[in-house]
Amino acid sequence: MNLVKIKRTSDTALSLTWDNGETTDITLQKLRDECPCAGCKGETVLFETYQPVKLNVLTPGMYELKKIGTVGNYSIQPLWGDGHNTGLYSWDYLYHISAAE
Ligand SMILES: [Zn+2]
Repeated sequence: MNLVKIKRTSDTALSLTWDNGETTDITLQKLRDECPCAGCKGETVLFETYQPVKLNVLTPGMYELKKIGTVGNYSIQPLWGDGHNTGLYSWDYLYHISAAE
């Protein structure tokens, strides 16, 4: 599955167009909550997953999308309002976490 187009549909949501003609939607909040980087999702070490401690306070700007870039031909890398940019979302992963219209 290849991502053809990313469109911002509102202040809080993106629309993704795939090369099979499908369109899926994802909110920025969901996109950030599903950040696959080690700091957000924990690291798998010897088959055990270590979850980072969830903070109860929201970081200002954490659900604010500053920009989004593509990395190679297979993933996107968003830059968030709080400066977080270590999450690489493969297209397969992105397809998996976004919802069909
Ligand atoms: Zn992250």
